[in-house]
Amino acid sequence: MIVAKPKEFSEITDMIRGYSNVLVAGCGTCVAVCLTGGEKEAGILATRLQMAAGSDDARFRASAATVERQCDREFLGLFRDHIEEADAVVSLACGAGIQFLAEMYPDTPVFPGVDTSFIGVAEGAGVWSERCRSCNQCYLGITGGICPVTMCAKSLLNGPCGGPQNGKCETSPERDCAWVMIIERLERQSRLDILRDFVPARRNDLSTHPAKIVREDYRKRFSAK
Ligand code: SF4
Ligand code: SF4
Repeated sequence: MIVAKPKEFSEITDMIRGYSNVLVAGCGTCVAVCLTGGEKEAGILATRLQMAAGSDDARFRASAATVERQCDREFLGLFRDHIEEADAVVSLACGAGIQFLAEMYPDTPVFPGVDTSFIGVAEGAGVWSERCRSCNQCYLGITGGICPVTMCAKSLLNGPCGGPQNGKCETSPERDCAWVMIIERLERQSRLDILRDFVPARRNDLSTHPAKIVREDYRKRFSAK
């Protein structure tokens, strides 16, 4: 899932200063799961914006609407009526969703209500940790399912460096060394011999941004005939 955190309220009010009809656009997927941008959070933010305007500006109106996914054109279409009434939008989706919303409604200013942090997992209640940097060349098959790009502080493909101490990364005693974990995992699976092979440097041409993936099989199956 994509993990995001709410922006400071003051940052949001600064961005929308001068607008009088603001739509807070929620997204019902990743940001809803990490309690940052779903229907409930969109409603709360709209209420806070309305209350903050208070008696200072009787003309100000903040409303909220949420769709299942802002990274999908079909769902973004459901915002049309709301956005026609608004003069600005605060989107609580991830950076991709915000951009797609802004692209679909280019006449209306769209502002981010969250800071998109990373692709990660929910480790427990209120704890999310990064697991993938979408490098487009997945190495998990040769690293025992532990990402060296994300989990190693130096993103080493041939580790460890000379720094780990007692299983911890040299950059922080709070952080497990990814390469110690990789070795332990592969040893447990009797696959340590994999590490004899040198892994070549990552191909920057494959990581070039902005990335785009076209799946012809998917297009053929789901495009309108
Ligand atoms: S190697 Fe790591 S960053 Fe790259 S795709 Fe796999 S999990 Fe993601
Ligand atoms: S100590 Fe381990 S995790 Fe830290 S930089 Fe070195 S190999 Fe990577």
